[in-house]
Amino acid sequence: MFAFRLFEHQAKAIFAKYRIDIPEGELINSSNLIFDFAKKIGYPVVLKAQVLSGGRGKAGGIKFAKNDIEAEENANALLNRDINGSIVSSILVEEKVDIEKEIYFSITIDRAAKMPLVIVSAEGGIDIEEIAKSKPSSIIKEWIDPTQGFHSYHAINLFKRANFTGETLRKLSRLAATLYNIFCEYEAELVEINPLVITKNGRVLAVDGKMILDENGKGVNEFIINDDVVREDDIMRYVPLSGDIGILANGAGLTMMTMDVVAYYGGNPANFLEIGGELYKKSEEALDYLLLRNDLNGILVNLFGAYARTDIIIEGILRSLKKNKTNIPFVFRVRGTGEERARELIKENLNIDSYNELDEAAREIVTKSEDYRKKVY
Ligand code: GDP
Ligand code: MN
Repeated sequence: MFAFRLFEHQAKAIFAKYRIDIPEGELINSSNLIFDFAKKIGYPVVLKAQVLSGGRGKAGGIKFAKNDIEAEENANALLNRDINGSIVSSILVEEKVDIEKEIYFSITIDRAAKMPLVIVSAEGGIDIEEIAKSKPSSIIKEWIDPTQGFHSYHAINLFKRANFTGETLRKLSRLAATLYNIFCEYEAELVEINPLVITKNGRVLAVDGKMILDENGKGVNEFIINDDVVREDDIMRYVPLSGDIGILANGAGLTMMTMDVVAYYGGNPANFLEIGGELYKKSEEALDYLLLRNDLNGILVNLFGAYARTDIIIEGILRSLKKNKTNIPFVFRVRGTGEERARELIKENLNIDSYNELDEAAREIVTKSEDYRKKVY
């Protein structure tokens, strides 16, 4: 099954809510927005590409800037760029902190032991897999008895084993206990801070943040659009589901059939979204809405034109795609009114051949979304 992974800025927003110290920062989606923020906090700043894959540092997704020129240059270099298979549509701009020490800290579920597991390494900053290879002795593990929880005094023992002392030990332990609260309250499968940083002047803060939530847990509610009807015309029916394949079809019956066929081929529909009747003219808004989700691994567009014109629907979809840059895979099945022009538009703009049959299209989106998921996670 897929897991619900948060962007760094989303994880950090949760950390901040629980008073875990994070660098001062702001999310931007256009390079000219960087100046106001940089002026407010002062240079140097860090620019961090917001994509769901890790290892952004190595892939060129983390940049620094000492002045306006570098800030604009680096923001432009990051925006719309492909990092580890994902297009960057936003950047987290943060104050650059002076790092004295980088620590690895995570809480995850040990599936074998069926218990939460805390992992600490004083050799943080690099992936845990790399730490396991280069400095395995630095990795300290402790299983949490869920009936007891994980409190500061548990954490103190843990960080003592990693040779921390004094005020730093106290701060780290408090932070770790808070993180366990977050882990429980969000029904997370993983909460990771790497690096957890100690600065030259003794500040302890989360420089990175990664959270994976149980897709069926209560934590995801904050991130899923869960209002059934929201558009101004009040009739576009959207029902979010827990799957990862977005469905866009005209008409309720066709939508349900599309969902069934996707499920038949092993896929998990992410939504019910109906653009029937006059609403076919609102396909741009429909796709805008669907793309607000960050948990999709593919979108299947299934159109059957009678009253609805498939070419008009495709025009809307293309407008939406122009605004909302994404590289999740799309598959189209187009039949009926306007079909010829619709197919041409798809081919010209997206270089994708459309399918005639729903069966073939559904099979294709299931395969493509699986490939995409493997690439991203
Ligand atoms: P990841 O590569 O996707 O895990 O992205 P991170 O957020 O962990 O950043 C990668 C690395 O960039 C960190 O391990 C740090 O070494 C460095 N880095 C990130 N933010 C700062 C910062 O504010 N100051 C300094 N000095 N280094 C930073
Ligand atoms: Mn990191």
